Amino acid sequence: MESLPNIPVSEHPRIVVVGAGFAGLRLVRKLVRHKYQVVLIDRYNYHQFQPLYYQVATSGLEPSSIVFPLRKLFQHVPDFHFRMAELESVDVEKKEIRTSIGTLGYDTLVLALGGTTNFFGNSEIESKSLSMKSINQALEIRNILLENYEQALNLPQEDEQKRIMNVVVVGGGPTGVELAGAIADMKRFVLPSDYPELDFGRMRVYLLEAADRLLGPMSDFASVKAAKYLKEMGVTIKTGAAVEKYDGSTITLSNGETIASQTVLWAAGLKVPEVPGLEDAPRGRGNRMMVDRFNRLIGYQDIYVLGDQALLCEEAFPNGHPQVAQPAIQQATLLAKNLLRKAKNLPPIAFTYHDKGSMATVGRNKAVVDLGRFHFGGRVAWFIWLLIHLMAIVGTKNRVFIFFNWAWSYITFDQSLRVIIRSNSKN
Ligand SMILES: Cc1cc2nc3c(=O)[nH]c(=O)nc-3n(C[C@H](O)[C@H](O)[C@H](O)COP(=O)(O)OP(=O)(O)OC[C@H]3O[C@@H](n4cnc5c(N)ncnc54)[C@H](O)[C@@H]3O)c2cc1C
Repeated sequence: MESLPNIPVSEHPRIVVVGAGFAGLRLVRKLVRHKYQVVLIDRYNYHQFQPLYYQVATSGLEPSSIVFPLRKLFQHVPDFHFRMAELESVDVEKKEIRTSIGTLGYDTLVLALGGTTNFFGNSEIESKSLSMKSINQALEIRNILLENYEQALNLPQEDEQKRIMNVVVVGGGPTGVELAGAIADMKRFVLPSDYPELDFGRMRVYLLEAADRLLGPMSDFASVKAAKYLKEMGVTIKTGAAVEKYDGSTITLSNGETIASQTVLWAAGLKVPEVPGLEDAPRGRGNRMMVDRFNRLIGYQDIYVLGDQALLCEEAFPNGHPQVAQPAIQQATLLAKNLLRKAKNLPPIAFTYHDKGSMATVGRNKAVVDLGRFHFGGRVAWFIWLLIHLMAIVGTKNRVFIFFNWAWSYITFDQSLRVIIRSNSKN
């Protein structure tokens, strides 16, 4: 395979960063314009803001407002190169990576590949359900939800209508809670006006969680409060039973219960991808790649792993950090600092995670926040959630668009993006 021909040899060492998610993007932003050549590789030419996928899936936001083109972020930055490519393998001996467009040598390699949906080896569930790990998948969910109601209008039988109108969300973590809440809000405020011929009393939104409670990593307060909110919004919650089977029409739980639904949204697990060439790297819980306190891949020279993909254990987090944005961002910030220190022959600083709290939104005026010893919910929590997410979005235009979208939806109780757009549509 050809080596990438148009990335020049630089007077500075080359750092190759694979993955432009929260971790990779933060690292690159901190490293460019210093004494390194930085090459960023991602399979997409944009950064995606995953915490708001669920709003794209439920017609609340346009896909374009939660993604940002990577080239625009690095216009006119010297000794920086972006390539849209898929990482295929790492050759540790030769210090090069193989990608879908060619090979590329590195002095330092940073992997920040995130994770993919975990179906726990159940290929039938994988093929029949929908997941939400990319903007394309979020858009697909939006299309399918809307198509379901278009189809339901033409079904004569009540049972068939119920099957197509029901939505089952699997996984009671923040993503599942947010998704179930947003669909319940659509059912309450939006769908009956769009489809007056349909009886939305027939539609049910289910949230299934194998553990005994929702929002596992959060406080008991948050868990109980979120469940209360969801029930008030009409969501049927089932905890303590895992999904065993789904044939595209009926879900079977481990306690034998069945639910009829054509639409299952899988938000139940995360899997870290294999990286050919690094098979010998030690893996920990959830197949995450074990790194030391400097995010160095254990047993390897000049290879670092960040974010969801990495398992970094410290006293307070013996099983690694939660797979959320903050650890990814904080690890990347410190790695950038350490690489700059390395260039000055200074010793690296060990990573310590600063937990800034966690939160989940459930619906209009309803969210839960854990902030150290403080736990609260309701309207204040919801506004804090809105503000933090708005500030975290990349791009001023995106922030402004999202702010106006949210303000409009809040005032009108409407989500205006209920359009089915497919690339294979006929003219
Ligand atoms: C639906 C959803 C909702 C979430 N909500 C929240 C939330 O509210 N709050 C929160 O803190 N966290 C949330 N998270 C988790 C958070 O998004 C992740 O923890 C965070 O994105 C991890 O950052 P990362 O940089 O490790 O990986 P990612 O952000 O996943 O980035 C990985 C990047 O690598 C690229 N990539 C992957 N494989 C390859 C390859 N082979 N070749 C080239 N490129 C590749 C991908 O395209 C992507 O750009 C949510 C996640 C999801 C899916």
